[in-house]
Amino acid sequence: GQCALACPTGAIVVKDDTQKVWKEIYDKNTRVSVQIAPAVRVALGKELGLNDGENAIGKIVAALRRMGFDDIFDTSTGADLTVLEESAELLRRIREGKNDMPLFTSCCPAWVNYCEKFYPELLPHVSTCRSPMQMFASIIKEEYSTSSKRLVHVAVMPCTAKKFEAARKEFKVNGVPNVDYVLTTQELVRMIKESGIVFSELEPEAIDMPFGTYTGAGVIFGVSGGVTEAVLRRVVSDKSPTSFRSLAYTGVRGMNGVKEASVMYGDRKLKVAVVSGLKNAGDLIERIKAGEHYDLVEVMACPGGCINGGGQPFVQSEEREKRGKGLYSADKLCNIKSSEENPLMMTLYKGILKGRVHELLHVDYASKKEAK
Ligand code: SF4
Repeated sequence: GQCALACPTGAIVVKDDTQKVWKEIYDKNTRVSVQIAPAVRVALGKELGLNDGENAIGKIVAALRRMGFDDIFDTSTGADLTVLEESAELLRRIREGKNDMPLFTSCCPAWVNYCEKFYPELLPHVSTCRSPMQMFASIIKEEYSTSSKRLVHVAVMPCTAKKFEAARKEFKVNGVPNVDYVLTTQELVRMIKESGIVFSELEPEAIDMPFGTYTGAGVIFGVSGGVTEAVLRRVVSDKSPTSFRSLAYTGVRGMNGVKEASVMYGDRKLKVAVVSGLKNAGDLIERIKAGEHYDLVEVMACPGGCINGGGQPFVQSEEREKRGKGLYSADKLCNIKSSEENPLMMTLYKGILKGRVHELLHVDYASKKEAK
């Protein structure tokens, strides 16, 4: 796919993890949890007898349960954590008024790799937030740490770059990765077919508790502009439906490779840029170096964002748009639109995360570079 071409790690032959995951599921001594990324739900339909772009999350949950996964979660919940941490970082930078804008997003590992390789001097501008996958994996491993069984955590992701992210040493605890296996959407499709499940006939089922709540802001992470819109929902003071609707029309949505928008924050105008495709990221960086100002820059390596990831079943561009629309419809169905209103967040910050926010949710790509 296009991600593999754009991604610096794409040259490496990507391993297939399906057999290893089956083995873990059948091992009586393991407790196997799984999280599903937002972009996956709108991309596997066609392969399994539904329409592309159709939100299949309920059927995916039902399938994973039949396949034998013990705990099934949605990465959108992890994305809510990312929104809270990333907005706090953005507002802190603005408050401190140092000359360290823009803040670049950090949830796409192919972008982080690209930045480390070609623009290491910009790493202090890359958010210290771990990706939603990694934030959520830290929480899940923590929650079940007292289990008598060996914990295995699987993430179903739209790209192969996530396999390399999961293997980074920053995300291991005592040598064990927080995410033990990453399955791409294509690998999940294969496993569903192998198990003989008739996907199109499954009754949709709900995500497990205690991490079963997520917001529309978390779901739209799967499409280019989603992270930015989610952060803007968090930072604007007017939280009315009209205000959120107007955010959608600022220019952050749509399939263009470069999008720009301005939003008022108090008496200050926040200028944001949303780029997808690494060539567009490189071009924007050159403009920033030449003096153009932005407060927040979202970068996704795949054109259109994760809906078009290299691990997703391949489709033409019109179908891609349907996947984006599918995620915005899923957002509409969520009764909570802004991450700070997710009741689970409060529980996490008062519980597992108390005094451990940095340890469990952040990573410092920049200082790692200096230490080398
Ligand atoms: Fe993976 Fe999404 Fe980045 Fe593509 S945009 S490399 S799918 S994280």
